[in-house]
Amino acid sequence: MQKIIALIGLSLRIHNDEGGTILIPYKHEPFTDFSKEENRKAFEEALQLVEGYLGQDYPLIIGGERVTTEDKIVSYNPANKEEVIGRVSKANQELAEKAMQEALTAFESWKKVDPVIRADVLFKAAAIVRRRKHEFSALLVKEAGKPWNEADADTAEAIDFMEFYGRQMLRIKDGVPVESRPGEDNRYNYIPLGVGIVISPWNFAFAIMAGTTVASIVTGNAVLLKPASTTPVVAAKFAEVLEEAGLPKGVLNYVPGSGSEVGDYLVDHPKTRFITFTGSRDVGLRIFERAAKVNEGQVWLKRVIAEMGGKDTVVVDKEADLELAAQSIVKSAFGFSGQKCSAGSRAVIVEDVYDEVLNRAIELTKELTVGDPANLNNYMGPVIDQAAFDKIMSYVEIGKEEGRIVAGGTGDSSKGYFIQPTIVADVDPQARLMQEEIFGPVVAFAKAKDFDHAIEIANNTEYGLTGAVITKNRMNMEKAREEFHVGNLYFNRGCTGAIVGYQPFGGFNMSGTDSKAGGPDYLQLHMQAKTTSEAF
Ligand code: NAP
Repeated sequence: MQKIIALIGLSLRIHNDEGGTILIPYKHEPFTDFSKEENRKAFEEALQLVEGYLGQDYPLIIGGERVTTEDKIVSYNPANKEEVIGRVSKANQELAEKAMQEALTAFESWKKVDPVIRADVLFKAAAIVRRRKHEFSALLVKEAGKPWNEADADTAEAIDFMEFYGRQMLRIKDGVPVESRPGEDNRYNYIPLGVGIVISPWNFAFAIMAGTTVASIVTGNAVLLKPASTTPVVAAKFAEVLEEAGLPKGVLNYVPGSGSEVGDYLVDHPKTRFITFTGSRDVGLRIFERAAKVNEGQVWLKRVIAEMGGKDTVVVDKEADLELAAQSIVKSAFGFSGQKCSAGSRAVIVEDVYDEVLNRAIELTKELTVGDPANLNNYMGPVIDQAAFDKIMSYVEIGKEEGRIVAGGTGDSSKGYFIQPTIVADVDPQARLMQEEIFGPVVAFAKAKDFDHAIEIANNTEYGLTGAVITKNRMNMEKAREEFHVGNLYFNRGCTGAIVGYQPFGGFNMSGTDSKAGGPDYLQLHMQAKTTSEAF
């Protein structure tokens, strides 16, 4: 029988029958139940705590040193443009170069640190974040405009990434077995790559920023973290957590700055060994192309992990639970105002049940409340900034041409960037609304002749990230399993909400390199395999 015996380092390990110890298995961080009063109270207190430190200055962190610059990125609350979340020092090319040099130095020692110790840094960081869970989530409410449950899920995912990747590193730290013939000893081990550039998006301002950072670090690399300019404060707080968890100076350098200035400079840098990017298709392609060029002084081919946009579909069969279908469409389309790469921005419904599902989705959508996400009663908060607001509203206009607006269709950016959840009915499968990523609370409905036609429409974009199929027909389900070409396919549920370690996440085609974050092969992308063979 296994029993918990000790905290070795900071990771909880279990005694096994052979007299050794193993780590307790990974289990995802549970979501907070906000129907319980004590949880609501704790979250309100966390919001107050965060409100107490709004507007502070955050320096860059380069080689462990704090560097303050005149030029600042100002982070605002998207629900209230007047509220400053923080002023963050902004790296320029000179400071980016300094950070690169620090990272190169740190890499030389960090790559030799025992992977067990590297994993312990992640486990301790996870423990620190878990203790401050509501504080981080409250910060996401303020900085990213996330409703409580969405912010809570973002923080839980960040914790999951640390717990999961720590364990994955322990699993592969000694490489994997290969065959050896008599008289020889063959080994297959993974070694770190070098200095990586982590470029993260604002929509999972904590989880993706933290996940891509810690995966790079636990594998023995040093990194420069360039967070999205709309959400740099949560990244600054996370950099502090990693310091507290014992990460040596220079292994993580925090260098917020303009994507086009600092981003391009670091992507082009000859000492950059890999880039882990999550964001839009256009920026991803730019990085992919620039990274392909071998610059002077560069002695390797850069590795690029690029996770990009989506145009994700919920397909509804005629033999289906239609209430579940409507619920799944609405949740997938409007959770976090549709600002998820996995958001279901297309509903493709077999014509026999189209009207019934559409009408029920309209009813459900009209019940949704939009407003300040600091108020638990609001289902949807704002979109991230003025540029996003303008872009989404321009798609609403296009929707008036390409279909019928049957819910929502209005927005108000006077105080924050609020857009009503919008359904556009009867859209042609080739229309812009059905093809282009809107990244806001807009869902297009299209009619399919039958299930085969629905799958054909579902596959008709250049993306291939997530999809869902609502059906009771086992044969149709199997058909979709084979033919619906997306990285993450869900049956009889919505198309958002992948859990680390349970539904590894990443997409096909223009959705990216299908790196499968939170999956069993993810860490290897940050390492190179070395074969050694000794003749006895
Ligand atoms: P974005 O505009 O592409 O920005 C992503 C990151 O790239 C930001 O840190 C941005 O910095 C930086 N950047 C901009 N220009 C750059 C350049 N020339 N060189 C290097 N870096 C540059 O995307 P976003 O608006 O933050 O995020 C939304 C997008 O991300 C959507 O398309 C969504 O589908 C996608 N996404 C995909 C996944 C996935 O797993 N597939 C997950 C989440 C989001 P600045 O902020 O300073 O411009």
